[in-house]
Amino acid sequence: MKSVSEINNLACSATKDKYGVIHQPLLNIEPKHYIPDELHMMMRITDILIRNLIDDANSKDNYSKITGGHADNLKILIEAICSCGVSFKTWINKACELEYTSLSGVDKKKVLTLLPDKLLFCVHEDTRESVIKLWKYFENIYHLITCQTTASFSASKVHGIIKQFLCDFLTLGQMKREGYQPKNVTPYLHVLLYHVPHFLQKFGSLSQFSGQSVEKTNDVLKNIYQTKSNILDATKDALLVRKRIENAHMNAAQRTRRKYTKNNLSYWYGGISEKRKTKLKQIENEQLEANASAKHIYLDTENLSVIELKEILKEHGITTKLRKKEKLLQLLKDNALI
Ligand SMILES: [Zn+2]
Repeated sequence: MKSVSEINNLACSATKDKYGVIHQPLLNIEPKHYIPDELHMMMRITDILIRNLIDDANSKDNYSKITGGHADNLKILIEAICSCGVSFKTWINKACELEYTSLSGVDKKKVLTLLPDKLLFCVHEDTRESVIKLWKYFENIYHLITCQTTASFSASKVHGIIKQFLCDFLTLGQMKREGYQPKNVTPYLHVLLYHVPHFLQKFGSLSQFSGQSVEKTNDVLKNIYQTKSNILDATKDALLVRKRIENAHMNAAQRTRRKYTKNNLSYWYGGISEKRKTKLKQIENEQLEANASAKHIYLDTENLSVIELKEILKEHGITTKLRKKEKLLQLLKDNALI
């Protein structure tokens, strides 16, 4: 794995072979400190598996239409997915392509566990066993990388297990099933095979780095933005509502909705938009003022005396024997204090 400085060097070098590096990294975090998010990895890989099932059932339907058999395989597949306790639909979009519900992480976990045993009729017979095996195999891998045990992992062993999954995946492609071709091996599958084993050996289960709890906060904030904020100053509203929910939760009390009757119709059909415009202008001004005063603090450091500068440094735990103002300012900059 390349380090940040190696990536930077490659980005700036004039050589032709840059090993896929195009630009300097935006964030200077060493790649060896990156941990793939297990939930996203599972979701993007099951995306491929689900799409392949739908294509499989669809192509079986098309074949049945020609040969006069039952062309209800896609319908059976959708029913099977729904019977896992999730809501799943398909529809044809304007470009005449088949689209379907994108499932949430929790729903995908349900489908991953329950669907394989329900795939008896809706996929092509010749590859049915292999498809079911592939799904079960992936579920086992997902368990392996997220299990809570403290057991130590051997990278080469885990790599071997995942490699078998990828081999089975590609074998299905050789058996004329679309969607299991080398071109369908996405970056997430590459990460799963070549990087996850290394992370497991080094750090243990990936579940401890899962971003699932943050996803929840993301959902909550999205919900607040769409239902409880005035959109104009959404960040402030979200923070206020979040705090209010927290307090209500602690005091086991929810605020009840107030009843409101629209009496002043001229306000509701005209005045309100004026009021919102004024408020938007006011928020913009507040933001401009805040930016200006932030700049002011920045400039002020130039007028500080040597003693004052040393004082600031000391407040941040840095003591120094330096006496030159330029050097002290530089030290502040180096420590990202100004
Ligand atoms: Zn890689």
